[in-house]
Amino acid sequence: MIIFKHPKDLRSYIQNGAIDPNSIGFVPTMGALHNGHISLIQTARVENPLVVASIFVNPTQFTDQSDFDKYPSTVEADILKLEKAGCDILFLPSVADIYPNGLTANLQQYNLGHLDTILEGKYRPGHFQGVCQIVHLLLDIISPGKLYLGQKDYQQCLVIKKMISFLNLDTSVIICPTQRESDGLAMSSRNVRLSPIEREKATFLFKMLNYINENSKAGDLEKLLQIVQKQLTEKGFRVEYVAIASQLTLETIQFRDNQLPPVALVAVYINQVRLIDNLILN
Ligand code: AMP
Repeated sequence: MIIFKHPKDLRSYIQNGAIDPNSIGFVPTMGALHNGHISLIQTARVENPLVVASIFVNPTQFTDQSDFDKYPSTVEADILKLEKAGCDILFLPSVADIYPNGLTANLQQYNLGHLDTILEGKYRPGHFQGVCQIVHLLLDIISPGKLYLGQKDYQQCLVIKKMISFLNLDTSVIICPTQRESDGLAMSSRNVRLSPIEREKATFLFKMLNYINENSKAGDLEKLLQIVQKQLTEKGFRVEYVAIASQLTLETIQFRDNQLPPVALVAVYINQVRLIDNLILN
């Protein structure tokens, strides 16, 4: 695996080597890699001659400074995992390499419509602008034919798809299924910040998504969401949202009909750690 630290070096490697963009599968990450990330690399490996991963903890997408400060970093172990998974190139830039003129210079506004202000966008204002800023920059440097994202960050997938579509970029988005621990907890870099008791409690999140799945076959969903919210609160979570929404637009749904199955989404805090998860309903 080749490691590039400077955007210019990676860009010229791709351009001078006359690599066909359609041969590149790209997996952006913030590091502290787990099997969720590695599953994306493995899928990209099967589908592309050249697999590029990036590790960059992007400051502009954090809305909570302490979340950014506490974000885990395990670069050496990450490099070993990427090599083992068959990644060809790792892009590992510094903040100064990515934002040479400062974090707020040349800030473009991305028109994400309601996706910017609902669910994650509501509780983390500015988050998706930061996500678009970094993904746009990375796509400019790498110009991949395929971009691999995890369903774990459902709204992020829709946001990036929307950005790629209005920027008219030649990259297709492949959404890979959420990888879970054996007890159902969605793998996340933030899970290492859970104490053993919190870790145990965290399994309740996926149980509640399954409960929604089993109890949302038809009719009014408002009551069901109230029950789930109450159960999560009683269990000690601070609930930001529990919602059932269109899997295409993320507009919330009050009544279930026979259209495309909706997606249930949840965001909670266990003490200081914020967890999100989602499940496409049957
Ligand atoms: P992150 O490092 O958290 O920014 O995640 C990088 C990519 O890995 C994103 O596309 C995530 O959606 C994806 N990802 C994170 N956790 C999981 C998981 N448990 N299963 C599948 N993909 C994941």
